[in-house]
Amino acid sequence: MKISKRLMRAKPSATLAVNAKAQELRAQGKEIVSLAVGEPDFPTPQHVCEAMKKAVDDGFHRYTAVPGLPELRRAVADYYGRFYGVKATADNTIISNGGKQSLYNLFMALIDQGDEVLIPAPYWVSYPAMVELADGVPVIVPTTAESGFLAQIKDLEACCTERTKLLVINTPSNPTGGHYPQAHLDEIANWAKSKGIFIVSDEVYDRLVYAPAEYSTLSTFWEKNPEDVAIVGALSKSFCMTGWRVGTALAHPDLVKAMVKIQGQSTSNVNTMAQKAAIAAFDGSWDFIDEMRDVFHRRRDIAHEIITSWPGVVCPKPDGAFYLFPVLENFYTEETPDSASMCTKILEEVGIALVPGSAFGDDRCIRFSYAVDDEVLKTSLGKIGNMLMNK
Ligand code: PLP
Repeated sequence: MKISKRLMRAKPSATLAVNAKAQELRAQGKEIVSLAVGEPDFPTPQHVCEAMKKAVDDGFHRYTAVPGLPELRRAVADYYGRFYGVKATADNTIISNGGKQSLYNLFMALIDQGDEVLIPAPYWVSYPAMVELADGVPVIVPTTAESGFLAQIKDLEACCTERTKLLVINTPSNPTGGHYPQAHLDEIANWAKSKGIFIVSDEVYDRLVYAPAEYSTLSTFWEKNPEDVAIVGALSKSFCMTGWRVGTALAHPDLVKAMVKIQGQSTSNVNTMAQKAAIAAFDGSWDFIDEMRDVFHRRRDIAHEIITSWPGVVCPKPDGAFYLFPVLENFYTEETPDSASMCTKILEEVGIALVPGSAFGDDRCIRFSYAVDDEVLKTSLGKIGNMLMNK
């Protein structure tokens, strides 16, 4: 088969290898625990499920407009008003198949061949591949564990050239959980504006921020500078709706139109019944989000305390999402010289799946998800600790 050169350049998802190995071991009857999960271990709220069932029964079976149902687009605009005091209208929004498609739409709409895109590392796995699929050039900006893996202006400045067109910011971050305080975000936004660099701000974990840290967003910057930033959101993580595939973007109306053009020629509207369910999610009670956040907060503390008790481990205590990203290179050996081989060893020896840091652009680290039951978390981390310390 002759597959296009564009696709051949893109790397397959680096998380697949670990998953394949875990499946193989499960097939052999071994019990495998996954700390590699990228979704909340809470069910979608009942009222959202009921709304989906009602939509089926009420006959909402047909296409909608490509950017989504007007009342859902309004609900997205209202979300930014309710949480961040931002004035937005339905025309500033688009509903897409997960935050992922909003990101893809944005890269396709904004990147010309050879445009450079600054991506602070550690980064979410899909950014570089998406940029390459859009014929752009990902420029990886290293950050340090000491700075909580948050990009500093000097880091961005060092990687910026006259070809830099975009900057991707992700807060809270997958894989580090790192969360940019508002002042830091604003500083980056002002710097980018002074350089004529557009920001794609991925805020799909925006409700999962742990006190005393406060929520932050670039939607407030967008309100004053609508041509300089776009905000990606999703119901996936904050509303426990990963499988429903409802993502959003907040952007200048011209950029929304460009995204609609791409979506209209590729996938069209998001599943109509999932859109109805999303309206119920926005309109209904959000108490479950507070409850889930408290549980994740507790688990972050449990996991962080155990991991940082391992000798020589550096692990910033992040303020958001449900991941920890410790530097574990202290434990690398000739037999396990990198994050992938270390993850394979952990999987084979103690039956726990993790994602190697190399998938996120930092091979010194391994990603631990704490979207699992407290006891499972404690037992699993205990086993990994004993293995690493040869107990
Ligand atoms: N952005 C980040 C940082 C993510 O972690 C994910 C999912 O893992 C996405 C975007 C995509 O989210 P969705 O499932 O809504 O497409």
